[in-house]
Amino acid sequence: MSKKTKQQIIVVGGGFGGIKAALELSRNKEFEVTLISDKLDFRYNPTLYHTATGGLFRQSSIPLSEILEGGNINFINAKLTKLDRDTQSIELDTGKIISYDKLVLALGVVTNYFGIDGLSEYSYGIKSPEEVKQFKAHLHELLQDEGKPDINYIIVGGGPTGVELAGALPTYIRQIMKRHGIKNRRINVKLIEAAPRILPNSAEKVSAAATKRLKKIGVQVMVHKMVQALDEDSLMVSSKDIPSHTVVWTAGTSNNPFFKDNDFALSERGKVTVDEHLIAEDNIYVIGDNANTPHSGLAQTAVRDGHYVAHDIEAKFHGNEGNRYKSKTLGTVVPVGNGWAAFEFGKFRLTGWLGWSMREAADWIGYHDLEPWWKASQQWATEFGSEEDCEICATEGKA
Ligand SMILES: Cc1cc2nc3c(=O)[nH]c(=O)nc-3n(C[C@H](O)[C@H](O)[C@H](O)COP(=O)(O)OP(=O)(O)OC[C@H]3O[C@@H](n4cnc5c(N)ncnc54)[C@H](O)[C@@H]3O)c2cc1C
Repeated sequence: MSKKTKQQIIVVGGGFGGIKAALELSRNKEFEVTLISDKLDFRYNPTLYHTATGGLFRQSSIPLSEILEGGNINFINAKLTKLDRDTQSIELDTGKIISYDKLVLALGVVTNYFGIDGLSEYSYGIKSPEEVKQFKAHLHELLQDEGKPDINYIIVGGGPTGVELAGALPTYIRQIMKRHGIKNRRINVKLIEAAPRILPNSAEKVSAAATKRLKKIGVQVMVHKMVQALDEDSLMVSSKDIPSHTVVWTAGTSNNPFFKDNDFALSERGKVTVDEHLIAEDNIYVIGDNANTPHSGLAQTAVRDGHYVAHDIEAKFHGNEGNRYKSKTLGTVVPVGNGWAAFEFGKFRLTGWLGWSMREAADWIGYHDLEPWWKASQQWATEFGSEEDCEICATEGKA
């Protein structure tokens, strides 16, 4: 069979959903699979909080070449900019135009500051390795700057990412103070949430257990508080200024602007409307964080979606209807400080070391979703490394 007669399947997005779909589709010899991503690495977002607080960058970033190695996937490093429905083709920022028989879109979300003054200029983020690098550099520089030490370290957003970061930050700050030979200073780590409780999407008991754990670690949990503005020196929260040079915004995301720019039908929350086969329009599947499905916003959902569309495309290729998509989760697990996590699956809950073990297992499964077991195990082992390769830490004052 010549190349031209193969089904041209284009998958865009080198994250959880896109990679899973591309890997599974590439097993079918009748498909020519192309994966397009604007990054050269895959970002394992669940460990970014750990990378931001002393873990290795490698645990949150795996070269795509390593994951795709030996597979049957064409890879293009470029950004998707435009969709042409009439010619069934897409345009990339390189100017290249590519035709598709089936298109799978898994572009992930972008940060949303909800128009709050000063956040985009002065806040830090931990949603990518680049943001984490900036945040770590800031922490190290600030702690060595005798003239301007921060007392308040503020994390905005009491969702899983904010809680995870808040749980790990006090220990990390003390660790780098020691590393730079700084005497133990008083520091306040504050976690700010607009809802009446942190982890508002979890059961109340889970929120209460996480709050108790954070307080034990020394984190001040502030709920029912609205962030109004940020400037160079302070954050305004519910009409009061809190002095700080370290504000981390973990609160908001919104759908990738590509979908609005290209006239997709969107739900109220800005996600793409899909049918019961994750099809948004003729020959276009939308999956993961982009799709308006009940559990969109979780890595496990994106992987599940990637797996599902690969099977759906195959079924339709063979003239079958394919099974309907069913949305479900395997539970969520939120670590709060070393050795403690809250695991929740329906009404079943585990906190403490057992929850932490579930998290370790979930990470191994997360890596194994995209890599064979031996590579996944090597990757998983990086979670136990520390930032010895961090250039910033190698600066003067290192113990
Ligand atoms: C800090 C953080 C922590 C998280 N922790 C957890 C957790 O513990 N558990 C959990 O289940 N989920 C967690 N999530 C959510 C999880 O990461 C997402 O649900 C998951 O990544 C969604 O997968 P996806 O394939 O839809 O998108 P992504 O994994 O975001 O992948 C999107 C890919 O598309 C690329 N891309 C974007 N636009 C373009 C374009 N125009 N052209 C080409 N490429 C493009 C991006 O660079 C990226 O590679 C976390 C997210 C963050 C940010």
